[in-house]
Amino acid sequence: MSFLKITSAHKAYRTPEGGLIRALDDVSLNVRNNEFLTLLGPSGCGKTTLLKCIAGFEDIDAGEITLEEQSLKGVPAHRRPFNTVFQNYALFPHLSISDNVGYGLDVAGVRKRERNQRVDEALELVGLGGFGAREPKQLSGGQQQRVALARSLVLKPRVLLLDEPLSALDRKMRETMQIELKNLQHSVGITFVFVTHDQEEALAMSDRIAVVAHGKVQQLAAPAEIYDEPANEFVANFVGTSNIFSGKVVAQDGRLLTIETANQRQLLAASHRFTTGDRVDLVLRPEHMRLSPGSNGVPDSCIEGTVEASVFVGSEMHLHVNVGKGRTAIVHHRHNRGDENERIEPGTELKLYYSPNAVHLIAAAGG
Ligand code: ATP
Repeated sequence: MSFLKITSAHKAYRTPEGGLIRALDDVSLNVRNNEFLTLLGPSGCGKTTLLKCIAGFEDIDAGEITLEEQSLKGVPAHRRPFNTVFQNYALFPHLSISDNVGYGLDVAGVRKRERNQRVDEALELVGLGGFGAREPKQLSGGQQQRVALARSLVLKPRVLLLDEPLSALDRKMRETMQIELKNLQHSVGITFVFVTHDQEEALAMSDRIAVVAHGKVQQLAAPAEIYDEPANEFVANFVGTSNIFSGKVVAQDGRLLTIETANQRQLLAASHRFTTGDRVDLVLRPEHMRLSPGSNGVPDSCIEGTVEASVFVGSEMHLHVNVGKGRTAIVHHRHNRGDENERIEPGTELKLYYSPNAVHLIAAAGG
């Protein structure tokens, strides 16, 4: 039986200027029970709209949303077994932490003893056991966000909807909360639908990611698959950095394809999905290019270029390399501490090597 299923959902908004915005354009998505699913996409792509439609704060214009095969059409938000955690978590400032967390239970008329027990459990769960008597202003931003989580979890929803809940936190706190949230989801066994525009956050936490753009799901897959095998150019560029070379397969030797591109006469790629004559986009991640050839396995392919800029980012150098015809390739190069020979100045000519196995090929749009 399917769990939370969205089928061909459409939602358009009329703008005051008389235009029409297709916030959801034929979205279908199957959310599994107990999974951590992330909706990832740029600002304005429709993530929040989808979350609101699942929550019941907005209605879809066409399509269907079902929970365990029961339609949610006409079911008001407060009757859906879902709860939402917003970016702006707005705790009641003059209520204690316990009363903030217990608020929903009070409204539901849960008896005092059970209420107190559930509040204590929820606070323990988010690592705030013993903080119940404090007021929100006596907690840090990260702790307040955890109170907001406890406030939702205490109601035992089937699905927790989270709309950019970590975006107000600083980087360190965010990273800590990412791990905690993932662990929490695992331990409570509640389905999480998490919205973010931050690809690192999505890769770090999710069981599966739905990449959304222009109101459409571009790809739905596990993080490693999204990164290693992006379905199209949008996903390849939005999740991580990609070097994309367009070309045509001109020769084939088993899995080894020779691709003729505009910039570099011929590049190699390993794939069994394409054959001679196919038009392809060759996707190469910056960390898969090296300044010296590999010593074993399939022979490396090589790209020649001139360094335009080298950017020190601490753990590695990011080299911007002009590879001809106005194209710049980005290379992530690990350097050895204190090694003067490792300095790569703009103007340096070099060869970039990569294994054909590191390449991901996408059918060229219209190809
Ligand atoms: P962000 O990350 O910036 O929150 P998002 O991906 O969540 O973006 P949505 O809030 O879902 O995007 O908005 C999708 C599109 O619909 C945007 O173009 C937005 O301007 C538009 N939109 C959203 N709500 C309304 C509304 N009530 N009236 C008109 N247009 C709206």
